[in-house]
Amino acid sequence: MGEFDLIARYFTRPPVPGSAVAVGVGDDCAVLQPAPGMQLAVSSDMLVQGRHFFADVDPRSLGHKALAVNLSDLAACGAEPLGFTLALALPEANPAWLEPFAHGLLALADAHGCQLVGGDTTAGPLNICITVFGQVPRGQALLRSGAQVGDDIWVSGTLGDACLALQALQGQVTLPPELLERARQRLEWPTPRVALGQALRGVASAALDVSDGLLGDLGHVLKSSRVGAEIDVHITTDLLASGALQESAKGIFDAETMMPCALAGGDDYELVFTAPAARRAAVQAASSASGTQVTRIGRITPAPGLRLLDRTGQPLPGRFASFDHFA
Ligand code: ADP
Ligand code: MG
Repeated sequence: MGEFDLIARYFTRPPVPGSAVAVGVGDDCAVLQPAPGMQLAVSSDMLVQGRHFFADVDPRSLGHKALAVNLSDLAACGAEPLGFTLALALPEANPAWLEPFAHGLLALADAHGCQLVGGDTTAGPLNICITVFGQVPRGQALLRSGAQVGDDIWVSGTLGDACLALQALQGQVTLPPELLERARQRLEWPTPRVALGQALRGVASAALDVSDGLLGDLGHVLKSSRVGAEIDVHITTDLLASGALQESAKGIFDAETMMPCALAGGDDYELVFTAPAARRAAVQAASSASGTQVTRIGRITPAPGLRLLDRTGQPLPGRFASFDHFA
């Protein structure tokens, strides 16, 4: 199978009539038409074998994840997905790999009305780079720089399971099979919070997606917004390390393993966002409308840096300092 057969067979579909895609795969450029009054939101993410995924990962989940991490960036900006390009380096044109990869990729694309509009295909070590294009009403993109003193800090979904799965796959922890399966699902099939992101336009003051770990990523918001934050650690770990912490309560594992996963583990692709305390009802409405759980985990403070508080509101000393890259 040659390069052009491969593109035709796995990655070419006609543009959806009446959509933002005027010209799709097959020409020198794709041509996109955002709706009147909309701005383009653009983001790229690359997945490299050995760095972002294991060589033997299920190609269907890899196709899903490659697009999911990009859609997550659109979600964080409150943008509506329009289309994406796929730059692919492949060691060989192997249908047994390409077929499930394309299936996982395009199933998620269809679920979000995000069309594959072009790309590049070359031989080389496996490397997947996607660029997504979305639209957002002029001036309404959610940014990292809008957090205000007194705002609540919220997070969607659950945190920590992807990190736990990674540790298990690397042999650092042992998980019961059923729990490993659930955690692995979170690592390999992340859910981009696209509907929540759009529902938070006009409600959230700042937002970003958690790809590198809650505390590290929240640090970007603090820096851009020139503010500090307090995080209620017991809420974050109790509510957010979903299945795993429940297991830990049964004594299968300890909080020492879970705490770093929930606070500093990457790959969850949840949204962390801030909103004025007066907008709590609006945040809950956005949560209901998008069918996505949200949890309030702290607040923005005038004092710079990030403080972790225990159940009684006292700062957590010593060993938690390593999670605080910004104090
Ligand atoms: P050019 O040489 O003009 O850059 P190519 O020969 O690389 O074009 O690609 C031919 C067409 O196929 C282009 O429309 C390009 O966007 C598309 N394409 C190439 N690789 C992919 C891919 N992996 N997925 C989707 N479209 C692709
Ligand atoms: Mg090309």
